[in-house]
Formats: sequence, structure tokens, C-alpha cells
Amino acid sequence: MKRSSLILALICILATLPLAFCSCGECEHVWDRGYTAKEPTTEEKGYYIYTCVDCGEMKSEEIPKLSHIEHTYSKLIWGGDADFHWFICDYDDCNVTTNKKEHTWVERIGGGMICQVCRREQ
Ligand SMILES: [Zn+2]
Ligand SMILES: [Zn+2]
Ligand SMILES: [Zn+2]
Repeated sequence: MKRSSLILALICILATLPLAFCSCGECEHVWDRGYTAKEPTTEEKGYYIYTCVDCGEMKSEEIPKLSHIEHTYSKLIWGGDADFHWFICDYDDCNVTTNKKEHTWVERIGGGMICQVCRREQ
């Protein structure tokens, strides 16, 4: 009885050895893509959890608090590129966009083209 539990303990130590080795700082951690362990809210920060694919060590990374829950577009802030225009969220720290549409080009007085909607010129 005593002997078998000793063997079990030995197997246990051997099995955990590589892990122990790793957490001694010998592992050059290779972090996975991580997952969102907690979504941020307007009240609290969230965080990601990353796991080392080699040794299983975990680390967390903060996700900043949200300044707002719903994006609003009442300020009608235009964003755009050569082909499309869209609205950018009213909040300064937010880059979420909506309503992406192609420009509606019309000829501009004095030459060139202007988008009827966002007034972008080309
Ligand atoms: Zn590692
Ligand atoms: Zn927003
Ligand atoms: Zn436009």
C-alpha cells in the first residue's frame, strides 16, 4: 500500500517536471491569440487572457473601459476614402463607423467633382 502511493507520487513529480522547468523562466513564451475573459463596460475595465502554447502559463491584458455603450452619430462627422463615405461615432475616442456608402459625384462649379453627400472633392 505504502509503496504504490510512493510510486504514484514519483510519477506525479515526473509529470509536472517540464511544467516546473518552464515556469522557472526557461520558456520563451509563445502566446496564443487570447480570448476576451471579460468584456469592458462603461463602469469596469475588461481583460484578455493569453496562454503560452508551450508551458500553459497565462497572462492577462487590460481592455480599457468604454466611454459609452451605444454609438451615436448625431454630430454627423464624416469619414471617407476615395470611394466611400461614412459616419464616425460622436465620441472622440471611438472610431466605430456606420452607414458606409459610395460617394455621389457631381460636377463642381469651377471644375472637378464633388460628392453631393459628404462634400468631398476630387
Ligand atoms: Zn511558456
Ligand atoms: Zn462609439
Ligand atoms: Zn461622399
